[in-house]
Amino acid sequence: MDGISPGNRLIEALDAADRDALLSQCVSIEFAPGHIFHEPGDPIDHVFFIEHGVVSAVAVLQDGRTVETVMVGCEGVVGGLAASTPRHAFTRNVAQMAGGARRIDVARLRALTAARPAVRDVIAAYLAALQAELEQSAACNALHRAEQRLAKWLLRCHDRVGGAAFNLTQEYMASMLGSQRTTVNEAAQSLQKSGAISYSRGRITVLDRATLERAACECYRAADTFRLAHHRED
Ligand SMILES: [Zn+2]
Repeated sequence: MDGISPGNRLIEALDAADRDALLSQCVSIEFAPGHIFHEPGDPIDHVFFIEHGVVSAVAVLQDGRTVETVMVGCEGVVGGLAASTPRHAFTRNVAQMAGGARRIDVARLRALTAARPAVRDVIAAYLAALQAELEQSAACNALHRAEQRLAKWLLRCHDRVGGAAFNLTQEYMASMLGSQRTTVNEAAQSLQKSGAISYSRGRITVLDRATLERAACECYRAADTFRLAHHRED
């Protein structure tokens, strides 16, 4: 966990009384890569405050192709839309990297948000930021080059994982970006040539974060859901 303290940022933002009330209703869980929290159409019975690890919300098309819509780590919550009203999942919520979360039953969460407005507000603020990120993503997917988008995506993984290296197969990156494998391969080779990353046998190492940031499109900064910067120790 170098550089990032474990713990969910939304829970940490609450005062002690609200935080204790929420945590008393939660169960700690661990998840492995590939773990599916919700499939499209599933009723959202539980909400997950992610403490470490990375979860992707993935749109699944009828032909089986997938593309990531948002990435969630310790700054956020999976299934948060169900905090106010009953919901079904639109996307597949799947763990990209192993981690842990605080899980709460939605009925309990709704009772809690009714009694404690600060809990409701912290989730609402996160969801509003996520909506802004989604709107930016629509432009990004249509207009920005694969290399820029890959750089943005790797920065987001790097922010959430905390370590310099992580395992990502080309197939996986291609399915997250909605691109062909060959396109992702070319983009990764180009980032490697610039010295930003090394990429070998599915293992990505961020060598030069500043170079990777320059390679990313503006959307990395525009998506302001991510507020880990001041939690970094470096
Ligand atoms: Zn972009």
